[in-house]
Amino acid sequence: MLVEENFDVSRFTSFKCGGKIKKVIFPESIDEFITALESEPQAGVFGNLTNTLVSSDGYNGTIILTTKMTNFHIEGTRAEAECGLKGAKLSQAAEAAGMSGIEFMIAFPGTIGGEVFMNAGAHGQCVADCFVEAKCYSRENGLVIMKKSDMDFSYRTSVCQKKDLIVLSAVFELTPASREDIKAKMDENLHFRKTHQPSLTLPNCGSVFRNPEGNSSGRLIEQAGVKGFSSGGARVWENHANFIINEGGSSTDILTVIQKMHNSVKEKFDIELRPEVRYLGDNSKEVEICKNLKII
Ligand SMILES: Cc1cc2nc3c(=O)[nH]c(=O)nc-3n(C[C@H](O)[C@H](O)[C@H](O)COP(=O)(O)OP(=O)(O)OC[C@H]3O[C@@H](n4cnc5c(N)ncnc54)[C@H](O)[C@@H]3O)c2cc1C
Repeated sequence: MLVEENFDVSRFTSFKCGGKIKKVIFPESIDEFITALESEPQAGVFGNLTNTLVSSDGYNGTIILTTKMTNFHIEGTRAEAECGLKGAKLSQAAEAAGMSGIEFMIAFPGTIGGEVFMNAGAHGQCVADCFVEAKCYSRENGLVIMKKSDMDFSYRTSVCQKKDLIVLSAVFELTPASREDIKAKMDENLHFRKTHQPSLTLPNCGSVFRNPEGNSSGRLIEQAGVKGFSSGGARVWENHANFIINEGGSSTDILTVIQKMHNSVKEKFDIELRPEVRYLGDNSKEVEICKNLKII
């Protein structure tokens, strides 16, 4: 299995930010993944790092990146995929098989494992809607099958965020539909992205904050006067205030902008925004900020 040491992660992260990671393991199968988890019990698990801010000072530990675990199959109405497969790939394969339910995955760059962990969603669909079960690994209990009822899914969260549960693979129940209709929905989702959200050519991690119930984080941040605020190369996006564009900024710059967005909304509206973005790093000042913001 491929192991890299002092691995420069910046070109892999969607923020295009991050220093060197002491050790990165890339398992290519579920068996290799379990071996890696057993031999490195402290290792963090990540997918495509599209929802993760990695410290510019790097991380003096081990992580496992799942992006080489990309097997999947679709049989009847069921799609099963390893955790490292990009959701967009599964979405395209479902369209080719005439299966509807995961058109939303076409629109963003995460892996199946990251999407289950986050209960990712968009355009009125989310993982929980079609999730059947996941093969998971718990450092306490070993292999476990987690059914939908075990997953505690709600808006951008799952039980994996509360318990030590690593997603190895997941099964989704899809609905037969005409390829034309599925394609039209995917095109509509992609068009919405192009017109309302930054593409990956502007380094970003998608929405920074979850929307508070019945409200929009972007609108609150804008009304708090933070649109366009910048620190170093990181800034609140001019077109939608719940996105940060990072053009050459450090992780501290990005966290400074996140803090400003959070604190301004808290001061003006007494609303505590909850970040979607995750953090990887051991810079003590950044860790402190992340704890205060409840990122970690
Ligand atoms: C341009 C852009 C648009 C986006 N739009 C959306 C959107 O519309 N909706 C949305 O929900 N998200 C969106 N995102 C955010 C992101 O793509 C999703 O949150 C995605 O689910 C993260 O997947 P990932 O593999 O990149 O996760 P990573 O960033 O690698 O990890 C995120 C978290 O998941 C955990 N994790 C990853 N893999 C596993 C696993 N196998 N088992 C257990 N835990 C795991 C990690 O430990 C980490 O805490 C967007 C991001 C970008 C860059």
